[in-house]
Amino acid sequence: MCRVAGVYGYRFAASMVRTLLFAQQHGGQESCGICVSDFPIKKGLGLVTEIFPDSQVSQLLPGKYAIGHDRYATQGSVTLDNAAPFECTTSFGTVFQAHNGHVINYWELRKFLARKGIGFNGTNDGELILKLIVWKAEQNGHNLVEAIRYAIKKVRGAFSIVLMAPDGMYAFRDRYGYRPLVIGKKRKAYFIVSETCALDKCGARYLREVKPGEIIRISKPGLESFVGFQPNRCASCIFEPIYFAFPSSIVFGMPVWEFQGRMGMRMAELFRPKFEELLKQYHRDQIVISPIPDTAMSATRAFCRELGAEDLYDEVIIRSHYAGRTFINAEQLVRDLKVKLKFSFIKKKIRGKVVIILDDSIVRGSTLRKIVGILKKLGALAVYVVIYSPQITGSCFMGIDTPTRKELVANAKGEPDKVARFLKADYLLHCRVADLRSVVCSFGKDPNDFCYACFNRRYALRVPKEVRKE
Ligand code: SF4
Repeated sequence: MCRVAGVYGYRFAASMVRTLLFAQQHGGQESCGICVSDFPIKKGLGLVTEIFPDSQVSQLLPGKYAIGHDRYATQGSVTLDNAAPFECTTSFGTVFQAHNGHVINYWELRKFLARKGIGFNGTNDGELILKLIVWKAEQNGHNLVEAIRYAIKKVRGAFSIVLMAPDGMYAFRDRYGYRPLVIGKKRKAYFIVSETCALDKCGARYLREVKPGEIIRISKPGLESFVGFQPNRCASCIFEPIYFAFPSSIVFGMPVWEFQGRMGMRMAELFRPKFEELLKQYHRDQIVISPIPDTAMSATRAFCRELGAEDLYDEVIIRSHYAGRTFINAEQLVRDLKVKLKFSFIKKKIRGKVVIILDDSIVRGSTLRKIVGILKKLGALAVYVVIYSPQITGSCFMGIDTPTRKELVANAKGEPDKVARFLKADYLLHCRVADLRSVVCSFGKDPNDFCYACFNRRYALRVPKEVRKE
């Protein structure tokens, strides 16, 4: 997962792109970069506010066209060579590109391009797609639409891309539409972003999604749409509304806050028998229901409402917003330390209580195990865990750096009661894929157009052996 941004036709487009990247920083924190019109790219390792500090905003280059990128590494290590955007000098001018996703036939395509004499600076799949497009455009008389159409057919995997060329700005998605990409407008300027929350920050109006397999060109005549690939089914990532996307965003046509709220309501229906048992066993004021911040906030409120237990909602865990997301930190040691730095606990609200906590998902279980341990140490009578996604049993090969299958706690330990034992929790409840599908349906969407592969290992694309880490 990364986040991308592009602005076409706005004075000081670069400072606007900086705001768009800042608003999407939750999607990638390892590096970021901006390029404006024909000027060299500025990029670095770190957050938007570190690479483009407030004090230097006025020094961002003027220009009406700019693109930018927040990086979260899947293909290629965290180095400046792999930081995006990428540029490529061609016979028809310089082309820049920012990309979100993951290419599963990376090495096959790299070898193919190497045979054509094309070299690479790093090992990032964004650089590969750019070089493939440029190579094709050089062959076909600089027709970028045709070259992108070729890339959509040739590249296997997930990609949502914004590309800036001398004749305009292009936006396109892979045929399955794994990662989000939307178009916005402010006066005459067009905006391309991964998430609508970024448009809100700039006062731009949400127009629509870039469709799976679609190619958008924005140039002097305005916005044009081309068919890159006519998909017969999509596989948009269901984890985007579960966890990755910002709560105020609309992703794949579904408001994220509302999606999570409806998942909370579904969990309340599943949890009701257990809740009734608890009410028989304990006084009502001995029970507290708390989200693990921040993702589970909306789901927990809806969960309480649906259970008729709004009076039991309280926040017993407070999150520091300076510690980052534990899921997207690659090293276990860093993750362990971050759990401690990330959460604070309100002892008074925990001692002598049955604590029901809600969260979006469990990956390795290490963060949750620590949280449960701390709650018990602080005097919780029991800890009940409610997770509004199914058990994760498969790795993702489409842009999310999930661990190998055997590192996933659901595979290592098995059924929820066994995972509960590992977590030292008194009870663990997950929803099923069918529950996710019914919530998707409630937004008028076809549930078959989504990917649930990390829950059921049914991948829309055949994943080559060398890519599967297990
Ligand atoms: Fe999203 Fe999971 Fe599919 Fe990856 S495997 S694209 S995280 S739903």
